[in-house]
Amino acid sequence: MIGGQWLIIGKLFFLTLVKIKKVVTFTNPNHSSPITNYKGKLTMKYKGIIFDLDGVICSTDDYHYEAWQKTADSLDIYFDKVINNRLRGISRAESLEIILERYDGKMSDEKKQEVLNYKNDIYLQLLEKMSIKDLDPSVKKTLETLKEKGLKLTIGSSSKNAKPILKKLGLGDFFHDISDGTNIQRSKPHPEVFLIAAALVNLTPKDCLVIEDAHAGVEAAHAGGFDCAAIGDAIDNPLAQYKLNEFEDILKII
Ligand SMILES: [Mg+2]
Repeated sequence: MIGGQWLIIGKLFFLTLVKIKKVVTFTNPNHSSPITNYKGKLTMKYKGIIFDLDGVICSTDDYHYEAWQKTADSLDIYFDKVINNRLRGISRAESLEIILERYDGKMSDEKKQEVLNYKNDIYLQLLEKMSIKDLDPSVKKTLETLKEKGLKLTIGSSSKNAKPILKKLGLGDFFHDISDGTNIQRSKPHPEVFLIAAALVNLTPKDCLVIEDAHAGVEAAHAGGFDCAAIGDAIDNPLAQYKLNEFEDILKII
């Protein structure tokens, strides 16, 4: 009889171990296990999530492409989707330098600024078409669930238009804070935009998970000491700890 009791206790212990192992392997097996609090209960691994904007929360890629295409056409410079892909995740000024690789001649800084303003004016006109309908319902639901769980949610985007875009999507006041192209000196792959995002909500890089769709962004997260979940174009980037087939897969990580 006593032996039988020990057998049941042994079984329960084994099942508990299996349960804990399942939680651990639910996340990336190469990553450390979830944090255990003083009661031995599993808690959330991250305190905050930093989201890139374009390609993660919404897609403005087509607007950028159209605006750069019109800008390149106005300068009689060849431009296509392959060149456009090199502009993803980097600043407007750096994007222009890539486009100017095919420019015959030298452009003054004054003229460059004029071209950048021209591109942005076209882009902003195209953004006018954006509305709350451009926010995927599953993205919205996932963001709300993450907020309910008590995570600090911030934006880490190189875009100088992050705030007007979020407003159009109905997320103007949703995030705890926003780090964007208006408060950084160096764009991705430099980690500055993510470091500022974490600091704005009083968290360290180790407390935060970055969600990125561009290789430059994954590199920036890695350089800043952040864990990163890659989605879209960057999904196979080896520097990312997690792959997200769908935005809502974030819920399986935290
Ligand atoms: Mg992006």
